[in-house]
Amino acid sequence: MAQATRSSLTVLDTAQFGERGTGCAYLLRSEKTAVIDTGTAASAPRLLEALRGMVIDYAFLTHVHLDHAGGAGHLVAAHPETTVVVHPRGLPHLADPERLISGMRTASPDLAPLYGEPRPIDRQRLAACADGDVFPLGRECRLVAVETPGHAPHHVSYFEPETGVLFVGDAVGHHRTPVDLPLTVPPRFDREAARRSIRRMLDLHPTALAFAHFGLADRAKGLLESYPDRVDEWLARVAGLREGLPDDEAVADTILADSRFSTLSDVGKNALRLCVCGAILTLDAENSRPQTEPPS
Ligand SMILES: [Zn+2]
Repeated sequence: MAQATRSSLTVLDTAQFGERGTGCAYLLRSEKTAVIDTGTAASAPRLLEALRGMVIDYAFLTHVHLDHAGGAGHLVAAHPETTVVVHPRGLPHLADPERLISGMRTASPDLAPLYGEPRPIDRQRLAACADGDVFPLGRECRLVAVETPGHAPHHVSYFEPETGVLFVGDAVGHHRTPVDLPLTVPPRFDREAARRSIRRMLDLHPTALAFAHFGLADRAKGLLESYPDRVDEWLARVAGLREGLPDDEAVADTILADSRFSTLSDVGKNALRLCVCGAILTLDAENSRPQTEPPS
């Protein structure tokens, strides 16, 4: 009897912003070979070195933020055989990354240069995925697209039913980098959508979560169940500080002064500032939403 085809999964540390253990791509090999997320354009040479000599059938992108999709154009330039899979709303940004670049320059001028220069991707190399789409990679390996908005409206996670690994991108925040933080980055973190996405992910009963920041974690159920509370605590902390401080800058300064964050590098501190900035946008959006009338 023929040997059943198994898959192998490798974590590729892209050394995002020059720091190890902060951002990764995943290499999933079966009869076909896929990467999940690609890291930044600046870290693309490192990714390409790891993939040297391989045929890469797919690059599955969880979303088009430049620390996940910035390297995709470089990957396709080196691997013209690759099909890049992304949510339909992300697709135009990969064909023309200019808005992603200018958005990042506005959101974080200090971090923006560290992302490198993304390359546009020919539309023929791009494929939009819909919720529930199944991508067979081998007889015992497939990825299922699962829409998981919240971190971004176009965020998709990918589930491998045979192994139970769920590639969550940024949908469940940071893991071990070095602080487990909800990823409330601009322009629009949506708390309610994130909560619904967590319920969907729990329904899949994953055995492991593959975080983009950073690595595999096997306490999938506990990490998913605790995420909505961690988001609430984080947003409540930012909201509370805003009450007593003169401006949003002071809120970020106060959070950064917390001893929990003392080990963060300058890059890590800038990323945290971005999460504070996004949390403030989320709180403002929630406050400006029309209140539903209480039942009479
Ligand atoms: Zn992101």
